[in-house]
Amino acid sequence: MPELPEVETLCCQLQGKIAGKKILAAKVFDHKLDGIANVRGMRICGVCRRGKTVEMRLHDGRSIVVHLRMSGRLFWRADRKKEPHTRWRMTLVDGNLDLVDPRRFATVRVVHAGRESLSNDLMGRFDFRNFMQSQAGRRIHVKTLLMDPKAIAGIGNIYACEILHAAGISPLRPAASLGESEWKKIFRQARRILRKAIAGRGTSISEWRDLYGCPGENQKELKVYGREGEDCVRCGGIIVRIRQGGRSTFYCPRCQEE
Ligand SMILES: [Zn+2]
Repeated sequence: MPELPEVETLCCQLQGKIAGKKILAAKVFDHKLDGIANVRGMRICGVCRRGKTVEMRLHDGRSIVVHLRMSGRLFWRADRKKEPHTRWRMTLVDGNLDLVDPRRFATVRVVHAGRESLSNDLMGRFDFRNFMQSQAGRRIHVKTLLMDPKAIAGIGNIYACEILHAAGISPLRPAASLGESEWKKIFRQARRILRKAIAGRGTSISEWRDLYGCPGENQKELKVYGREGEDCVRCGGIIVRIRQGGRSTFYCPRCQEE
């Protein structure tokens, strides 16, 4: 599932490719997406990320909002060919932007702009005071909290594991047991890891591809995710995998304090 760095990668590439261009046509190929408002003839002013969604701002004040969910991908095609599982296509003067999505969970909506930016985005606006007051005292595991979009925008399973390893904190710690300095450490590491992942155009563990179909490079940087049974790069302990909230968690029980 694309997380913050993957969506940020897409938005940067889209900004360079489609901003300033006019939408010549938009077509839906999957009835599950029926009802998208007409955007033909609109000019795209800019593309930005909001949490895990891609927002394409139009000159009439509306925005096209794409949420990729599980398997959604946005691909640029200079020709008119269509990949299997293409559900939506927007045609511009020099090519097509396609939504390819085998599992069909992705959504496309046209909304009126004027929505406030999120205040829980670690790569944008982040209200630490508000986080400490409204989220930090929850009884759920710290890893589960990191992945809750209401608490923090854009972090999924891969980056949550990596962030906690870098911060030296066990994923099994109750969120409420962490002090302010531990949260600061987590967010410092989170920003570093997310920045690096954006620079590497995301993590291609399974099927993540960027706008031009290229895999990202950040998978080489992973220290715990997918490394069950391997040595911890920091302390030489053995990385383990556990089930947590229905997802796999990877961590080092030796250097990630309980
Ligand atoms: Zn370790």
